[in-house]
Amino acid sequence: MSRYEKTVQEINERIEDGSVMVVTAAEMSDLVAELGPKGAVHEVDVVTTGTFGAMCSSGMWMNFGHSEPPMKMSKVWLNDVEAYAGVAAVDAYLGATQLSESRGMAYGGGHVIEDLLKGKAIQLRAEAYGTDCYPRRELSTEITLDDLNQAVLSNPRNCYERYGVATNSTEKTLYTYMGKLLPEMGNATFSGAGELSPIINDPSYRAIGIGTRILLGGTESYIIGNGTQHSPDGGFGTLMVQGDLKKMSPEFIRGISLTNYGTSLFVGVGVPIPILNEDIAKSTGVSDVDIVTNVFDYGVPSRNRPLLKRVTYEELKSGCIELNGRDVKTSPISSFRMASRIASLLKRQIATGRFFLTEPAQKLCAHGSAKSMGQREPNGSESIPSVVHIPEGQSVYRDEEACIQCGLCVAYCEAGVFRRDTEWRVNYDPTLCQECGVCGDVCPHGAIHLRS
Ligand code: SF4
Ligand code: SF4
Repeated sequence: MSRYEKTVQEINERIEDGSVMVVTAAEMSDLVAELGPKGAVHEVDVVTTGTFGAMCSSGMWMNFGHSEPPMKMSKVWLNDVEAYAGVAAVDAYLGATQLSESRGMAYGGGHVIEDLLKGKAIQLRAEAYGTDCYPRRELSTEITLDDLNQAVLSNPRNCYERYGVATNSTEKTLYTYMGKLLPEMGNATFSGAGELSPIINDPSYRAIGIGTRILLGGTESYIIGNGTQHSPDGGFGTLMVQGDLKKMSPEFIRGISLTNYGTSLFVGVGVPIPILNEDIAKSTGVSDVDIVTNVFDYGVPSRNRPLLKRVTYEELKSGCIELNGRDVKTSPISSFRMASRIASLLKRQIATGRFFLTEPAQKLCAHGSAKSMGQREPNGSESIPSVVHIPEGQSVYRDEEACIQCGLCVAYCEAGVFRRDTEWRVNYDPTLCQECGVCGDVCPHGAIHLRS
C-alpha cells in the first residue's frame, strides 16, 4: 500500500482556504502517542515549534546612512558597545556578547539591540582615518531604529537541537555562560525547549532547510543555513537565521547579563514543520522523555569536560536530577513559557491564514561534527611577502597570478601597455612602457611592479 504524502503547496492551499490543521509540538507528542505516525499524518498538516533562550551567537547588521561630511567609519560604538566596522563606510555588525566599554558586563550588544527595538535613542560614536572621498574623522550623534536604513538581525548560530547540562564539582562558585554554578554540585543548569525545540522535531532535516520561513523575534524571517558549529551527528545541530529587526517585537528579543560572565541575547524562534509524510510525523511525536543530553562538570576548565551522566529533558524539567546519589536542583537558562507562547503564536498565524510555508531552497546538512580548534605554533611563513623579480630589460612587470583582470589599469597607461580585448581580458605588453610611473599605485591587487 502506498504511503500517504503531502506537499508544502497542498498545505498552503489548506492555509488559504482555512482547512489547515495545525498543532504545537507539545500537542503533537500526545497525538502521535494516541494515533501513531500513520494516523497523525492524516490528521495534522503543520507542527509549530518554539524556543526562547540565550543565544550568544546573535547580532545585527546595520547601515547608518552617510553623514555630512561623509565618513568611512573604522571604529563604531553604540552606547559604548563596539560594533565591527570593517565593512564599507557606514555599515557595521553589532554582536550580542560585545561588552560596553563604560558599563562592563552589565550592558552589551544584546541590550543595544533590545533598546533599539524599544524605540530608545542610542548614542552613536565613530572614528575614521579620513580619506579624500570620506574626509570626516569623528562623529558623535544619537540614533533610533527608524534612523537606520537597514537593521537585520543575523544570527550565525541559534536554536541548538539540545544543550549540555552544567554542574560544578569544585569548592568554589563558578560564573559561566550556563549561569551561576554553586560549589559541590549545588545545582545544575540547562537550556533549550526540549520537545518544543525546532530541530529536535526534525533531526534529519527532512522538512526544514535553507529558505524555510520562520518566526524570529515575532516576525516572518528565514533559515539561511546550518548554524556555525553545526554537529548533527552528535545531536547538536544548529541553525543560521536572519530577519528584519525593524519588524520584530521586543517581547521576543531581550538583552541579558550573566554575572561575572558577560552579555547575550535571549532570542525567540518559532519554526513550522510541515507534516509531509509518516517519517516527519514520527519525528514530531518526540517528547521530553525521549530527549537525552549530557551532564558535564564545568569545574574542569577543558573542552573535554568530564561527562557525569546522561539525563532526559523530562528529568531536567522536573526541577531535580540525581547526581552522585544526591538530588541536585535544575534550572533552565531559557523560558519554556515563552517557547510555548511562540509555538502557539505561530500556530495561530498559520491557522488564520497569516503565515504560509515555504519549500526549502536547499537541504541542511544532516551529518557531520564540528572540530575543536587546530592549535599549532605559527611559523609566520604566510605573512612574509614574496620578493618580486622584474625580468631583465623590463621597467614594468605584471604578476599574472596576482592580476584579477579588473581592468582598472587600462585607462591610466597612455602608452597602451594594458589593453582590454573584446572579451574583457586585460592584456599587457611591457615593451611599450615609457616609464612614466603613473600605474605603479593603481592596481588594487598589487599585480603591477615598476623598476625603481
Ligand atoms: S589593475 Fe591590476 S588586477 Fe586589475 S587588470 Fe590591471 S594589473 Fe590586473
Ligand atoms: S609606467 Fe607608465 S607607461 Fe609604463 S606601464 Fe605604467 S603607465 Fe604605462
